[in-house]
Amino acid sequence: MSELKIYNSLQRQKEVFTSLYPGHVGMYVCGPTVSGESHLGHARPYITFDVVYRYLQFLGYKVRYVRNITDAGHFEEEGREAEDKIAKRAQLEKLEPMELVQKYTNLFHWAFNQFNCLEPSIEPTATGHIIEQIEMIKTIMEKGYAYEKNGSVYFDVKKYAETHDYGILSGRVLEDMLESSNRELEGQDEKINNVDFALWKKAPPEHIMRWPSPWGEGFPGWHIECSAMSNKYLGKQFDIHGGGMDLQFPHHECEIAQSEIAHGEMMARYWMHNNMITINGRKMGKAYNNTIKLTELFTGNHHLLDRAYSPMTIRFFVLQTHYRSTLDFSNEALQAAEKGLHRLWSAYEVLQKLTYAPLDGQPVNEELDKQVRDWCHECHEFLNDDFNTAKVLANLFELAPVINSIKGGQIKIHELSEETFQLLQKTWTTFLIEILGLQPETLNTDNSKLDGVIQLLMEMRKEAKSRKDYAASDKIRNQLLSVGIQLKDEKDGSMTYSIQ
Ligand code: ZN
Repeated sequence: MSELKIYNSLQRQKEVFTSLYPGHVGMYVCGPTVSGESHLGHARPYITFDVVYRYLQFLGYKVRYVRNITDAGHFEEEGREAEDKIAKRAQLEKLEPMELVQKYTNLFHWAFNQFNCLEPSIEPTATGHIIEQIEMIKTIMEKGYAYEKNGSVYFDVKKYAETHDYGILSGRVLEDMLESSNRELEGQDEKINNVDFALWKKAPPEHIMRWPSPWGEGFPGWHIECSAMSNKYLGKQFDIHGGGMDLQFPHHECEIAQSEIAHGEMMARYWMHNNMITINGRKMGKAYNNTIKLTELFTGNHHLLDRAYSPMTIRFFVLQTHYRSTLDFSNEALQAAEKGLHRLWSAYEVLQKLTYAPLDGQPVNEELDKQVRDWCHECHEFLNDDFNTAKVLANLFELAPVINSIKGGQIKIHELSEETFQLLQKTWTTFLIEILGLQPETLNTDNSKLDGVIQLLMEMRKEAKSRKDYAASDKIRNQLLSVGIQLKDEKDGSMTYSIQ
């Protein structure tokens, strides 16, 4: 099998398609700013890196996956200062900032549980790491790359660029950035150069989220949290730093500069960025009134949606395109994805029920046997080629008609060798379920819990029947029926159920 190759998105230090060291892997992915509900655009990075996480583990790496929660200080957009999102939203919703943060953190966890995303190994919060951030800012100041002005601290980008490559990740050129001025924006006049970014901000009197620091009461900048927390849990240099392409600049570029000064090393060996989701060909955003929240997606309650789409349909839809390509969202595309996924599940169910039966004297169909084996083996090759989930799914679609033909009798099962048949079964379970993380809709977490409860009630009903307590046995059956769960006594004495 080929080696895993990862596309490194560093623009000016091209070292593409290099493989990882064996053993442990440290991966840091920028998590959500919990100042509002997650939307469709957030689904892509977390599903993408969930598959990366799953596949690395499948390959035998011991992965420490760190994904932060930004619960303070996100006030910069596109390199310009904007309002503190959390403070503004808390005011609007009349909530204590930490109440708001908790509400949206819970919602985030709920949504990504629906997508069957594995939890990260560590999920640090910005507010839980104020001391580490202050320490890092102090180090950067001691080294002469940051300055204080009126209780705020800024990173000196121009000085950094004299000896380092600012723009190494995004490919931007400092001179161009210096030319375009944003001086009309509030707070900019404190900076020596407009490209400088805040490490610490002085808190205005009305600001609730504030912490003491050597520069007075304030709160940390957005970029510094990721540098401080990744260093704490993954060390000076770790393997993979991931996020959406919109984070390349300024967020990740600033992370690199801060970490380089504080720790003397390029923080991550590989930078992975997923491309954006567009909606009907347009960028998603306030300007187009086309931001679709995940709760709206799951309920269909949005003017752009024909109806609701299940979390697994969305997950499948995301994985049908390679993570570095743009992905256009539309009702048609979602409905096609839904049908496609259904076809895969039908084939999967058929495959699970098939049992191999060799037929004496009947030869294996060598051509078919080889084709099936190739399609299975290619799944590994595709994921090794920079996590190409789209091609894996394409191969499963090639294999589905073979499985259906075995069921229909057009292909006899012994036309495949036993080894190939087992490989086929294993490939579907490994890729569809374990690595791509798809699951039949009825098997999601909530339903598996429900299943446990129903199994228990069926057990109790059996016991009631065996001691001839028919009142209790009928009560269980009728009460379940009243909530839409029908029990059925099978001929062989077992009990099954269906949900209406
Ligand atoms: Zn980050």
